[in-house]
Amino acid sequence: MKAKPRVHLKLAVELVPAPLWNRTLAQLARAPSGRTIWTKIREVELKRTGKVCEVCGQRASHVHEKWDYDDERLIQRLRGFEVLCQECHLVHHQGFAGVHGLTNLAMKRFAEVNSVAPAMAKSIVKEAFDVWGARSVRGPWTQNFEWLVANAGKYDLGADLVEEAVRFPEEPEGADEGSELWGVPTIGSVRADILGDLGIRTIEQLASSDPGSLLAASSAARIRDASFPSQMPMAVNYARAISQRKPIVTTHPRQLSKLDESRILFVDLEYDPEEAFIFIIGAMTMDGKMQQHFVEKSADLPRFLLPFLDRVRDNDLQCVSYGSTSADVPMLRRAIQNVGMSRSRVDDLPFLDLFRDVIFTQNLRKQWLYLPLKPMDAKSVARYFGYDPPKNVTIRDGFEALMQFKGYLRSRSRATRGRLLRYNASDLKLTRRVFEELRNLETGRGDTQTYRLA
Ligand SMILES: [Zn+2]
Repeated sequence: MKAKPRVHLKLAVELVPAPLWNRTLAQLARAPSGRTIWTKIREVELKRTGKVCEVCGQRASHVHEKWDYDDERLIQRLRGFEVLCQECHLVHHQGFAGVHGLTNLAMKRFAEVNSVAPAMAKSIVKEAFDVWGARSVRGPWTQNFEWLVANAGKYDLGADLVEEAVRFPEEPEGADEGSELWGVPTIGSVRADILGDLGIRTIEQLASSDPGSLLAASSAARIRDASFPSQMPMAVNYARAISQRKPIVTTHPRQLSKLDESRILFVDLEYDPEEAFIFIIGAMTMDGKMQQHFVEKSADLPRFLLPFLDRVRDNDLQCVSYGSTSADVPMLRRAIQNVGMSRSRVDDLPFLDLFRDVIFTQNLRKQWLYLPLKPMDAKSVARYFGYDPPKNVTIRDGFEALMQFKGYLRSRSRATRGRLLRYNASDLKLTRRVFEELRNLETGRGDTQTYRLA
């Protein structure tokens, strides 16, 4: 699903997937702790080019964040900045351009700076939107700011200040080359290098090392990685899980087994990220009672959404999902604002996100489970726990579901509607299976023999 331009582009179209909106560096740094960060980066970057656009040479005032996407592991990785003028910047923000009637301007600019014919420009931009659509319905995404932590000095920033502001610690990147330590969650190339300097180059070596000694050695070596102390014990546990090929559970207060089963509601939404339109609201109780709303047009959404929100509130239900922090919840917020309702109704929803709250918290105090697994998206984790979708589920992912829904709007085919509902139902059952297996692991009843490593 990589966007492979057929021509060399001076200025590409870089659309940020919807689940990652509001999580740019500029926005994260708006928090009091990080306010100076963005100011300093802007200052240094604008000075670097003499306030000149790096693409066309015009006067420039925009600092654009450049990101890489690992579509396999669902990681968005910062890889630097680019100074751009207003017009060139618009090319990266085709969505914004569209809303503000500037599509033609953005398209013209794109064709000009890249010296491509208008028809070619149109097809490349369309391709960028396809990639964007596919990425926007996948998740959960994690972010990697390792580049900035490593380059903090260049911006006259302390690495610890940067870590504090982004608070999304690093993730492994492509493990095809380089250290095998990149295969360990929480370790990227910077930490792999640090560990390499301490004589640790393999997962085996990391698994058998003592976090305390590693910390002592790293502080003796004056390592500038502020979150190393909190991340390293987690990295060692992940390495142990991978090397023993089974989950590691540490002592912790009960999290899943304390929940009242009768109040659990598994929730999964299918949506169109571009329109912030939710077309299936799927919910299922622990005993498998399913309620699915198929929404055909935006105006119908309140009629289905309000009873759902009321049901959760009136029955004091606990919503359980996979990856909702970065997908379903922000989408609900946008959708609800689109229909003129207050987003507070969504903010009040009690969501337990099995990914962010259990499987990959990136927080040493919260993390009690270490799976010997990567990537850790819903399908990989469910497959590991032995869940296979029923044979009659033919849609493979959210993007395919979106395409089928668009087809449905033209055809109103009952068969398509049925396929979409079956796909959503399978995702709900998948979420329940993951929940049950996580709870079994918590209470020591997990049958690890049945787990399937790829
Ligand atoms: Zn420019």
